[in-house]
Amino acid sequence: MTVEENKVVTIDYAIKENDGTLLEDSADEPLSYIHGTGVLAPGLEKAMQGAENGKTLSVELAPEEAFGSRKDELVLEVSREDFEDPQQVKPGLVFHAELDDEMRYYTVISVEDDAVVIDGNHPFADKTLTFEVTIREVREASAEELDHGHVHEEGHHHH
Ligand SMILES: [Zn+2]
Repeated sequence: MTVEENKVVTIDYAIKENDGTLLEDSADEPLSYIHGTGVLAPGLEKAMQGAENGKTLSVELAPEEAFGSRKDELVLEVSREDFEDPQQVKPGLVFHAELDDEMRYYTVISVEDDAVVIDGNHPFADKTLTFEVTIREVREASAEELDHGHVHEEGHHHH
């Protein structure tokens, strides 16, 4: 079976910088996702379209096809009191929040008294990256998976 929209695809992957530095990989846990739903970087999703099960790909992607360019407007100053647990706020903390009607991950950059500077840019923004992918499985998505927009693991249903 080949990779197409609305197929459930399972991959092993590694993301590397130009100089070969490994930034992230799937290690012992392959990633399963529904193709065409925007889970993967846009350029990677394009490169995988039509690929056969079992295939290994290596794709170099510019930032705009990977995790985007850094946007200064995603660096914001907020109040420590806005956090659920103000005492736990410290540099490096990563949290998921909706600001300006968009859910994204933010990283705390600095904390000074009540002022907390957060950055909503992806940690790999602005990077040209090489994605190495091996396709482990391609299968039809169930009607329920398509309805939910995500993969259900065999035997259990977790969100
Ligand atoms: Zn579900």
